[in-house]
Amino acid sequence: MANYDYDLLVLGAGPGGYVAAIRATQLGMKAAVIEKDKPGGVCLNIGCIPSKALIHQAELMHCATELEAIGVKVDASGLDYGKVFAFSRKAADMLSRGVDYLLKKNKIDLISGEGIITSAHEIEVKGRGKVTGKNLLIATGSRPRSIPGFDFDGKTVLSSTGALMLEKLPKRVCVLGGGAIGVEFAHIMNAFGVEVHLVEMLDQLLPLEDEEAVDVLLRAFKKRGIKIYTSTKATGYRKSGKGVKISLEGKGGKQELEVDQILLVVGRVPNTDGIGLEALGIKPEKDFIPVGDYYRTSVEGVYAVGDVVNSPMLAHVASKEGEIAAEHLAGHQTPVKLDPNAIPGAVYCEPQLASFGYTEKAAKEAGLKFEKAVFPYRGAGKSVAIGKPDGLLKLLVGAETREILGAHVVGAQATELIHEILLAKTAELLPEDIAVMIHVHPTLSEGVMEMARMAEGWAIHV
Ligand SMILES: Cc1cc2nc3c(=O)[nH]c(=O)nc-3n(C[C@H](O)[C@H](O)[C@H](O)COP(=O)(O)OP(=O)(O)OC[C@H]3O[C@@H](n4cnc5c(N)ncnc54)[C@H](O)[C@@H]3O)c2cc1C
Repeated sequence: MANYDYDLLVLGAGPGGYVAAIRATQLGMKAAVIEKDKPGGVCLNIGCIPSKALIHQAELMHCATELEAIGVKVDASGLDYGKVFAFSRKAADMLSRGVDYLLKKNKIDLISGEGIITSAHEIEVKGRGKVTGKNLLIATGSRPRSIPGFDFDGKTVLSSTGALMLEKLPKRVCVLGGGAIGVEFAHIMNAFGVEVHLVEMLDQLLPLEDEEAVDVLLRAFKKRGIKIYTSTKATGYRKSGKGVKISLEGKGGKQELEVDQILLVVGRVPNTDGIGLEALGIKPEKDFIPVGDYYRTSVEGVYAVGDVVNSPMLAHVASKEGEIAAEHLAGHQTPVKLDPNAIPGAVYCEPQLASFGYTEKAAKEAGLKFEKAVFPYRGAGKSVAIGKPDGLLKLLVGAETREILGAHVVGAQATELIHEILLAKTAELLPEDIAVMIHVHPTLSEGVMEMARMAEGWAIHV
């Protein structure tokens, strides 16, 4: 039998790759991770973590408004965005070092350098030579997508990475792309006083989310002065004076918008090029690596997880897929794949939005027989007590089966509240199980209980 350096050789130390390596070592395998940049991938360095650090500080700015409501005069004129930026980098760097520590603690070798796959058992690391593994896991992630006429130049047209690296904010920005990343940047910039124009080509912001939930967010954004353009396409831009004029085409015809910078966040491209897939005979499908059960590719012993495969581009999805691949390799009992209806997603803005499963539109399109319960946040006393009464909790339930089909929460702490509902779904509990469980008073979680009671026809506080 051939001798390999490692049982598992992972390409890419993002949340997919490093988590898979740790899980594999927990199950007795010897693993190494090859990384050309900092450990932690997009998520920790130029994604989830620095963006949430900015959002946290945006929320502090937002609190100034609440303080004013109780007579506290807040002078925000001393805002030093350079310090806000520095805080976000500190958080990212600390967590990237944390991944380094976790890899060391688990005795996983971190091999620095760009890796190119040369066979099913070998990766050539530039400047370091060949490393061999009995099995390979590809977790090379993704990068920002540009569109014709809007090449990233780091000055006028920024990617999400460019926006995260700004040490000074523009006065006016046009965000192209109304998905989660675009909506989060619109929230951040607006909170720091930037004039924000948010443009989405489809007819709804956050097109994959439930319309009723998105409406709550839309109202809040409009109230805060964020200008929203749906069913609108950006066709080009030209320099004008100190800024740029961007051409938009929408329902109401053509218009030009003058801003200082453009933030282009219209999706991400999987990093499947230049990593040596040809050596394996793997052909990407729409840029993604095709995978089957347990995230196995068509090549024996080669797995792929995270943003390089065609599943939601989310850090927790990448990590869970990495765990499944590692567990399968180790012969451990594990799910075949993630259940797409039990994958939670979140948008961190004010108000927060979190969801899983069917939207009302998708349930109708699928021809499902379902009932819906929509409980207003203000029905949970705690939301009023903390001055956050706007929001809703929505549950979709199979009309006959009573199975939880989907949940959509928009409002304060939505990104935490979603988990109780998701736990119920994954444990195959029914709304009546949540409805009868005693919840602490006063909490926002009482809203979850009331939503479930509403589905059962006996909500008390509505
Ligand atoms: C601004 C922003 C905010 C986000 N916010 C959230 C959020 O709040 N929640 C959430 O769940 N998701 C969020 N995401 C998405 C999340 O970051 C990704 O889904 C996640 O990072 C994917 O993990 P991954 O392991 O597949 O790949 P990545 O994190 O992209 O990691 C891949 C790694 O592979 C390395 N690599 C690539 N090619 C090679 C090579 N040839 N040799 C060596 N190394 C290589 C890269 O340097 C990188 O470190 C956000 C993304 C962005 C851009």
